[in-house]
Parts: sequence; structure tokens; C-alpha cells
Amino acid sequence: MSEQKTNELVRKIFEAYLENKNLRKTPERFAILEEIYSRNDHFDVETLYIHMKNQKYRVSRATVYNTLELLVSCDLVTKHQFGKNMAQFEKSYGYRQHDHVICIECGKVVEFCDPRIHQIQTMVGDLLKFDVKHHSLNLYGFCSDCSMANKVNQHAATAAKIEAN
Ligand SMILES: [Zn+2]
Ligand SMILES: [Zn+2]
Repeated sequence: MSEQKTNELVRKIFEAYLENKNLRKTPERFAILEEIYSRNDHFDVETLYIHMKNQKYRVSRATVYNTLELLVSCDLVTKHQFGKNMAQFEKSYGYRQHDHVICIECGKVVEFCDPRIHQIQTMVGDLLKFDVKHHSLNLYGFCSDCSMANKVNQHAATAAKIEAN
């Protein structure tokens, strides 16, 4: 699906959702939606707010926050809790199913896709008679940059110890 087509569709979905809930269809809400769908990353409320502000949009933190919650409720945005970090968000409409690997040192988030995970979901659903709708799988560890830095630090610490003796 082309980006423009996706943008039109998500706009329509959001419009219908707001109408349904008797919520106001403010330009700010649609600007936030558009901004989210122009990104390809995971972001927290603060990052999105600062980005909107830098682009001269007149939005408040509260509006960004509320709009994000609305977008999560109508399945246009997915909310993630990666470890103890602030909640992170990403667009979800028309976007491939994926899982995440998170660096516990620098917070880097990398996506991966493995069909076997979907197979497990189906299998467990069948086995336990659950109509499984979705899943979340997060793997935590050190990214290559951080594990490299850790090794260097360890070597430095060992060298310092040897010198001290
Ligand atoms: Zn890292
Ligand atoms: Zn993701």
C-alpha cells in the first residue's frame, strides 16, 4: 500500500472513531496522526511533543498525550512498555507484524520478524482453546555497541587492577 493511500485510510478511520465517540475533530489531532504515520520508529510522548513543537505546531503536551491514547484505542497506534522506560508508541495500521529486541544499556529498539512466533501463537491458541488476537514479545540484552563498550570497560578495569597490585 502506498504511503498516501495509508494516510488517507488512517485519517478516515480516525475521523469515524472520533465521530462515533462524539469527540471533536480538531486539526491538532489529525496533525499528530499524520506526524506519527510519517515516522518509522518507536517514540515516547515527549519526543513526539518536541518534534511537533519544532515543526511549529501549536499543540500542548496534554493534547499529544490524549491523542495518542485515542489512537491506541482505535488500533492505529500500538503502545509498548519496554522494560522500565517510558511507554513507547508506533504506528500499526498496514504495518508488518513484528517483535522487538531492546538494549538494556542504551534503549535501542530493533524489530524482527519470525514466522515461527506466529505458529506458536496459533498452536497455543488451539491447545488452550483461546482465540488469540495478538501477542507481544520483547527480548532484552546488550546491542553490539554496548557490549563492545562493556568489554572495553572490563578490560580497562582489569588492567587498572593489575597495575594497582
Ligand atoms: Zn545499546
Ligand atoms: Zn516496532
